[in-house]
Amino acid sequence: MLHPSLAFEKGVPSDATAIPMPPPAPPPRPVDLPGVAPAASTGETPRPPERPAELSRSAPAGPDAARPAQTVKEDGKAGPSDEAAKAGETVKPTASGEIPVPPPRPADLSGSPLAVTVAPLDDSACRARLERLGARFEALPAISNGQCGAARPLKLTALADEIALTPPATLVCETAEALARWTTEAQVAATRDLGQPLKSLSIGTSYECRGQNHDPDAKLSEHSFANGVDVMAFGFAGRATISVMPATEGTPEATFLTAVRGRACDFFRTVLGPGSDAAHANHLHLDERQRNAGHRLCQ
Ligand SMILES: [Zn+2]
Repeated sequence: MLHPSLAFEKGVPSDATAIPMPPPAPPPRPVDLPGVAPAASTGETPRPPERPAELSRSAPAGPDAARPAQTVKEDGKAGPSDEAAKAGETVKPTASGEIPVPPPRPADLSGSPLAVTVAPLDDSACRARLERLGARFEALPAISNGQCGAARPLKLTALADEIALTPPATLVCETAEALARWTTEAQVAATRDLGQPLKSLSIGTSYECRGQNHDPDAKLSEHSFANGVDVMAFGFAGRATISVMPATEGTPEATFLTAVRGRACDFFRTVLGPGSDAAHANHLHLDERQRNAGHRLCQ
């Protein structure tokens, strides 16, 4: 037996119970329901524009019914009607009834759109927290360099307990706050594991417009958005600097480095260091890259 819908389409009468019935009518509109708010300027109730006459013909039947006519040529380039769109003219169906396709995506947007991190325009609450954390910083002008940049970067010069950043780091507030909070934990670890208060952090890269791992073909690094920082070494008043590197297991230096690296995962979404890959053998890379579903990369 034919499927009921096929039978219906072909005009073959079929079993009446197999013909789908329309749903029941909705209840009447309550009289006390407020109407659509009139437009503020004219006082008139807004109405959708009239359907253009060119579009009024019924949809074509057949296997291509759901596919609109396109003016894309076989080489994938846009047809002539796209020139009008590029010129900013109103796009209308052509006389032949063809529906124009949208213009191609501009080349300068062809990189990963997810790579663009938009800093919040108002970071005043973050700056207030950063001040309460004992950080010293000043606002820098917005950075805009092609796809790189930051709307509200800060120059971070010192953290709580007069821990100096050498050199100062250029970071957006969220990343600066993460660094400040993590350094508070590093101070606890320094006192516990080394018996020495932390006095400075040696900073490698903070803001820099470049691809990941200095590869110009790679996705842009979070450094490109002032959203990542490389910590090269930890300085103390009464003992030698501890550089980030694979340390001999069981030494106080190794205990300290393992502790601070582990704590970094609580404050940063990305933590890479010695053992992650060759590019991170001599520093901790810390950033706040946004990932789907809040995933972190903590190695
Ligand atoms: Zn880095």
